[in-house]
Amino acid sequence: MGSHILKISPFASSTPLIFNATPFLRFQAKRVVSICGHPKTQFRFSSSSSGFVPSSKRGFRGGVVAMAAPGSVHKSEEDWRAILSPEQFRILRQKGTEYPGTGEYDKFSAEGVYQCAGCGTPLYKSTTKFNSGCGWPAFFEGFPGAINRTPDPDGRRVEITCAACGGHLGHVFKGEGFPTPTDERHCVNSVSLKFTPANS
Ligand SMILES: [Zn+2]
Repeated sequence: MGSHILKISPFASSTPLIFNATPFLRFQAKRVVSICGHPKTQFRFSSSSSGFVPSSKRGFRGGVVAMAAPGSVHKSEEDWRAILSPEQFRILRQKGTEYPGTGEYDKFSAEGVYQCAGCGTPLYKSTTKFNSGCGWPAFFEGFPGAINRTPDPDGRRVEITCAACGGHLGHVFKGEGFPTPTDERHCVNSVSLKFTPANS
């Protein structure tokens, strides 16, 4: 298992277009190329997970996992503006993207549950988080039914949203060659998430 510490070259680029996935990645899956253009990136599993234990066997204390029904959270734009920070509103409600390498949970590996920052619905367990080296939190799997997938209008990427409130999370990529149980990467904005420790 890779024990190298991730080395990310500085993000010198000033163009946000770096966020856009490009189809060529699909043809270089074996090279573990990240979306963000670090072809030699080494990745390692988050320290909280001893390999990839099936998430169903890693319960969390505290009963955090209370799922809101899909589509159950409805608020007007005005209401969302009132309860979200401007940055949360920009990303969750206007499908924005945080700058890579800056997010609170990018290099975060504590054990617990990541909930939707908009409505509190549990989305990911920390045991499904892995270090993709792309500059955003990456998960190989979400809670069943918690996340909706919608192809972008241009067909290049698949957007992921909170199934309960529709909040924008990021995008999901498949077949990149990461040695995870699903070979999927949920590339999620930290701003879209709220972490709750397992022992809280
Ligand atoms: Zn939500």
